[in-house]
Amino acid sequence: MNKVSGFLFILLLFPGCLYCQKKSVYEKNLNVIRDISVYHQTINQNSNNKLVEINKYIPDIILDIRYATSNNFTGMQIYNQPKAFTRLPVVKALKHVQKELKQTGLGLIIYDAYRPYTATVKFYEVYHDTNYVASPYSGSRHNRGAAVDISLVDLKTGKGLEMPTPFDDFTEKAHPDYTDLPAQVIKNRQLLIDIMKRNGFTVYPSEWWHYDFNGWENFEIMDLTFEQLTE
Ligand SMILES: [Zn+2]
Repeated sequence: MNKVSGFLFILLLFPGCLYCQKKSVYEKNLNVIRDISVYHQTINQNSNNKLVEINKYIPDIILDIRYATSNNFTGMQIYNQPKAFTRLPVVKALKHVQKELKQTGLGLIIYDAYRPYTATVKFYEVYHDTNYVASPYSGSRHNRGAAVDISLVDLKTGKGLEMPTPFDDFTEKAHPDYTDLPAQVIKNRQLLIDIMKRNGFTVYPSEWWHYDFNGWENFEIMDLTFEQLTE
């Protein structure tokens, strides 16, 4: 094969797919969407499938996208861009949470939202404990654009409210039912749990910061990059 036909051969192998992420060994029983045209078809079928950029929909929300920095449990930068997306009904619910919080001078801070499936594979390869990182055999609710990692911020000072642990602390102290804590910390955590519950979310049993949107199973697992979603 000469150089030109070799190049054409490679183009045939990867048709029009500059950003496509690779299929992993874990996903035999999963349907992972990594084709942008398939994603667009799902939106045409149901507009709720749209992944919306959270801060475009809720401009006053604070983002601290840890996986776009090395300040996370992997010690590596996982995302190229500090962006946060969720499905349309999820961002609508978050907007309502933000509005309710604002009345008491508080707001949300987002650590992570939609997470491409490839990142879940990386997390599992770094840290195998599936109490704290999702199994790539089943995928994460973050991969479905139906989970958020969040906390509360005082809008006046810009400071976070004191919570039981930092984000991504993989200890028992991070469990939302852990009680050996100062009363104010329990109160702050409960405020977040209650407001999220009222708006259609359920806290994860081992992470006070992680919330699944009720009905998460209606959304497919995705492996589109942030670049693909904003193109
Ligand atoms: Zn999470």
